[in-house]
Amino acid sequence: MARTIDGTLVAAKIKSEVAEQVASLVERGVRPGLAVVLVGDDPASHSYVRMKEKDCEEVGILSRDLRRPAQTTQAELNDLIDQCNSDPSIHGILVQLPLPAHLDEEAVLARISREKDVDGLHPTNLGRLVRGIQAPRACTPWGVMKMLEHYGIDPAGKRAVVVGRSSIVGKPMALMLLEANATVTVCHSKTQDLPVVCREADILIAAVGRPEMVTAEFVKPGAVVVDVGINRTDKGMVGDVDYASVEPIASAITPVPGGVGPMTRAMLLANTVAAATVAVGAQNL
Ligand code: NDP
Repeated sequence: MARTIDGTLVAAKIKSEVAEQVASLVERGVRPGLAVVLVGDDPASHSYVRMKEKDCEEVGILSRDLRRPAQTTQAELNDLIDQCNSDPSIHGILVQLPLPAHLDEEAVLARISREKDVDGLHPTNLGRLVRGIQAPRACTPWGVMKMLEHYGIDPAGKRAVVVGRSSIVGKPMALMLLEANATVTVCHSKTQDLPVVCREADILIAAVGRPEMVTAEFVKPGAVVVDVGINRTDKGMVGDVDYASVEPIASAITPVPGGVGPMTRAMLLANTVAAATVAVGAQNL
């Protein structure tokens, strides 16, 4: 039976650390501020944003709710980002993805000031990750690394397989594991013999978006399995891992819900307080 990697528990620890950091910034006269930009009516996005705003309230970060209608133009969104960039009371800017199809997501992410990019998705910040330079880290893979660290799972020298190569999860995940000295393989929809490749993993990360695709035949006995997937199905929310068949053979596994999801949210708070701390430091120079 696998040990449960409890994301809710680790996220609570990170949130209490963030709350302390916020309190100390407030003592210095600075309340960390997060601008939450949401364009359109996607119900899942609205629910994510509500959760993120509630998280901010819990730790004392001021969230500024910037909802805009689905027909918002690129120029209007650019203006909004520019205003947030130049507002000293805003330390982090979160643009909830996906944006409506007529908007250029890449252009919007690149327009956010690098220092306020608390999602860690600005091209410069992803580039800094490649170069191993300090920068805000993409929240989901950074949250996975923090969970592994909490449970004493050191990737150094291990074989890690990441299934998925998106810029939001798979690629930065692979880079962070590489930085932690794992030997990393990245798989995707064109990978041949996927179960065979996955069975080489000591640490298997599933970030695919296909409900319960990763079954027992993908998993080496004793492997650590991290399920990033969030899939809404008739039977409720499920991950990319078939928990029932994988849990008996893994050594540790993240549940869905209660695994990576809460960590992603906690890392957004951690990145926001870090951005505010840097901004305060800069003011004091
Ligand atoms: P994307 O759709 O952007 O990427 C999915 C990746 O999976 C692609 O690289 C794709 O390959 C690969 N893939 C698709 N089908 C297969 C297959 N049959 N075999 C192997 N690889 C395959 O998704 P995201 O990276 O944004 O998200 C992945 C999952 O993680 C989703 O379920 C999403 O909801 C969830 N998620 C969860 C978060 C959390 O906080 N827990 C945060 C962000 C995402 P190719 O590149 O070849 O198309």
